[in-house]
Amino acid sequence: MNDLLEDFPILKEMINDEKLVYLDNAATTQKPKQVLDTIRYYYEHDNANVHRGVHTLAERATKQYEQVREKVVNFIGGNDPHEVVYTKGTTEALNWVAAGYGATHVHAGDEIVVSYMEHHSNIVPWQQLAAKVGAKLKYITLTADGQLDLESAKHVITDKTVLVSLCHASNVLGVVNPIKEVAQLAHQHGAIMVVDGAQAVPHMRVNVQKLGADFYAFSGHKMLGPTGIGVLWGKKELLAGMRPLEFGGEMIANVGLYHTDFKEPPYKFEGGTQNIAGVVGLGAAIDYLTEVGLDNVTAHEKSLSKYVLPKLQKIPGIEIYGPSDPDIRTGVLSFNLTGIHPHDLASALDMDGVAVRAGHHCAQPLMKYLGVGATARASFYLYNTKADADLFINAILEAKEFFS
Ligand code: PLP
Repeated sequence: MNDLLEDFPILKEMINDEKLVYLDNAATTQKPKQVLDTIRYYYEHDNANVHRGVHTLAERATKQYEQVREKVVNFIGGNDPHEVVYTKGTTEALNWVAAGYGATHVHAGDEIVVSYMEHHSNIVPWQQLAAKVGAKLKYITLTADGQLDLESAKHVITDKTVLVSLCHASNVLGVVNPIKEVAQLAHQHGAIMVVDGAQAVPHMRVNVQKLGADFYAFSGHKMLGPTGIGVLWGKKELLAGMRPLEFGGEMIANVGLYHTDFKEPPYKFEGGTQNIAGVVGLGAAIDYLTEVGLDNVTAHEKSLSKYVLPKLQKIPGIEIYGPSDPDIRTGVLSFNLTGIHPHDLASALDMDGVAVRAGHHCAQPLMKYLGVGATARASFYLYNTKADADLFINAILEAKEFFS
């Protein structure tokens, strides 16, 4: 993958006189020239508002906006572009399911199931929904090495469950969840399966239909695309029964003085002027990842994990969260070093140009479950190299010496 480094101008940045080693990809990814150029070209040549005009630019903008829906649906294994709703990102997508679908389909006494490894975006909307309608929120536990405990899932998901919502891949533990098995379990009990795909879609081939997902959410900025654009994919019949949350222009079929008919999905969810350039940029990111090949991305990240994990494991006083077997890990590595606060470690690594994240990673219930306040997290992506991994390990060893 070394040949694609040239596509990412930002990777040439010098940080504190050192070459940037960007290992904060679970937070957001860098953008290749192809994505940046596409957005710039759009603004320089095609910019207009979509759907409203008959002039040439409006037609060009609308065509691109709708073509990206097709790219998205092909990319995630759906079969109908009308099942793709543009959102600001995963957070907004999950909030919409909670407030738009949940508010009319989840009732007092019903149960909503999540797990202990969820991002706040896949906890707080369900807490809000549960409080509003009088439903109960339940948690699937994890195994000792941080994987989803399927035995617990079998226990927690019951005939009272109406909705199960899980991350496809954890932003902390580096595990990929058995969504297909859990979706089968959910469906056996008459519940729907919602999937937070923020950490999966950028890194692996996803097929929403094979997974058995009913709703699937992800963010463009975590997959080489711009910020402010994401996707809620949902089954047609479920989107049809979901209430829109933003009312106004574009989402209407017919407005009377006292009554409005909405458009069909996905348009009824896209009220007002949307992030059109973001959509165009997302399309370019999908093209880029398709060209590289998602299987190659997965294999590359796995080989980096296999390279770096044994080196990390050898560092005295390190605790790594999630499975110790690199074969079942993604490129996300969360860890702590005895006696060094993760924020201090991250600051020390930054002095060497190495960007990692420290904190609770928007997963406070998981931190509590693990018995820690925070962790450091390095997350690798397609443009990272073994040289990056070496610089990362060296920077940790230096920091360890500095703080000892
Ligand atoms: N879910 C997971 C697993 C994530 O890692 C993130 C972002 O870090 C989100 C949801 C929220 O994504 P966004 O901030 O793009 O809405």
